[in-house]
Amino acid sequence: MDRVKFQGGICVFIDELREQLGDDKVLSEDFERYVYGADWSPRTKEEIFPPDVVIVPKNTEDVAKTVKIAYEHAIPVTAGGGLTGMAGGAVPIHKGIYIDSTSMNQIIDVDVPNQTIRAQAGATLQEINDALEEHGLWLPNLPESKWICTIGSEIACDNDSTFGMRYGKILNALLSVQIVTGSGEILELGHRKCHFTSSGYKLKDLLVGSEGTLGVITEATLKVEPIPRERRVEMIIFSSMGTAVKFLDRLLKAGLTIEGAHINCKRRLKFYTHAYRKKYGKDPEIPDWAGALLAIIFAGDKEVVDFERNYALGIAEEMKGELVKEREIVKGWWISKHTLEFPPFKQKWPDSQREKKFGAVDPGIPMGRLEEFYDVFVKTAEKYNLQILGMNAYLEHPNSIGFSLSCALFVDYHDQDEVNRYLKYFEDMAKAAVDFEGTMSTYMSDTNLKVPYFEYEHGESAKYMKKVKDIFDPKGIMNPGKKFEYKGDVK
Ligand SMILES: Cc1cc2nc3c(=O)[nH]c(=O)nc-3n(C[C@H](O)[C@H](O)[C@H](O)COP(=O)(O)OP(=O)(O)OC[C@H]3O[C@@H](n4cnc5c(N)ncnc54)[C@H](O)[C@@H]3O)c2cc1C
Repeated sequence: MDRVKFQGGICVFIDELREQLGDDKVLSEDFERYVYGADWSPRTKEEIFPPDVVIVPKNTEDVAKTVKIAYEHAIPVTAGGGLTGMAGGAVPIHKGIYIDSTSMNQIIDVDVPNQTIRAQAGATLQEINDALEEHGLWLPNLPESKWICTIGSEIACDNDSTFGMRYGKILNALLSVQIVTGSGEILELGHRKCHFTSSGYKLKDLLVGSEGTLGVITEATLKVEPIPRERRVEMIIFSSMGTAVKFLDRLLKAGLTIEGAHINCKRRLKFYTHAYRKKYGKDPEIPDWAGALLAIIFAGDKEVVDFERNYALGIAEEMKGELVKEREIVKGWWISKHTLEFPPFKQKWPDSQREKKFGAVDPGIPMGRLEEFYDVFVKTAEKYNLQILGMNAYLEHPNSIGFSLSCALFVDYHDQDEVNRYLKYFEDMAKAAVDFEGTMSTYMSDTNLKVPYFEYEHGESAKYMKKVKDIFDPKGIMNPGKKFEYKGDVK
């Protein structure tokens, strides 16, 4: 495809971008482009794909001008946020234009009486919550990466949240979203500040998990919540992951409203307690019989928190669960998960990110099959001779048991053979999740890694999905190669 026409080292379309946007918003030097060639996914240096040019837009109009030029020349466009994605979603594998949305991070409106916020897509979740805090409000749909993860990415990836068991995922908060389509048109999708509608089709929902393949998200309006007065985090040991699930089910039947719940396998806890090891020079002591460590969060007024906690602990005792009494272990997990009282990512990541990368798959499976799937995880990792980091089941559906799994390994990204084995593991796990009556993806979206299994999961509906993409992105230039194969054809 003759898309990049170099004239004395400068692309024609780059000149046009400079003309339309101004020099300061167009970055084309090697050192400026290189950092956009990879995210946090395990990949060797051969798999780093710097874009041809990077745009740092200030507003929706800048994005629309950029995409119109891309549309005219059929140049791939990839939008990205903090680049903390774990499966390469924002990596411009077909090069072209990269839109760095972090330069659009303005908070546009905090509407306190109606409990909504409007922000530009590049605002991080922390920036959004900083703007809400003085009003006693927060956006509770928070991944661990909230310091860096942008709201545009959270919508685009359909992230997991630490507080999913009460507030669900971002779909529960998203009221309206502005996008620039693949032909450069600006569209507002949604129902303004209202929580629901039965009018029209819910096109805004299509953006959740779209990973930039339908258009670039430029602004969003979100429903926010009052900050709870009190919070108590506990950790309970169970003999198996299945028993932890039964325990949570029993709490729901009793009428308790849990703010967050995370079922860690024993190996995974080790990953979360780096601070503990640093402080005491040893691993936290967990009994040999432990099959699962449930981290559970209660929040609300103090009396309610105390009541719910005590009621839950009574049920735990009946089910032979054991409360983790050493608060330092619980605190270590909580710091690592949410409060991050350390320079961002220094606590648990050095182990995994300097020498080896955190390589995870994110399947979803039905609630009764967690134990069985854990076996598949361990066996698949062993089959490819990969070092297990552990499994975590995040409870992500409000007031019910709906998992999103993180099945993680340590991957040496300097070793091509190990990265290849990890990719095989990734494929096997994606297929296994579908075979388990589940889904291959719950918080990373599809990226290019799941393209081979897209039809396996979606069957005939994959064709309808492609037609939807064609409406939003007629030339197939938006984050090409993600979800669907990209043949580089100009329509
Ligand atoms: C330490 C750490 C902890 C993490 N914890 C969690 C967690 O708890 N839960 C969880 O779900 N994930 C977690 N992640 C994974 C990752 O942070 C999230 O997936 C997050 O959404 C990525 O945000 P980002 O801004 O870095 O996105 P990027 O990696 O930059 O992009 C992610 C995807 O969004 C698309 N995108 C970005 N901006 C736009 C836009 N404006 N318009 C259209 N598409 C866009 C990109 O094309 C890409 O497909 C974690 C990662 C790290 C490194």
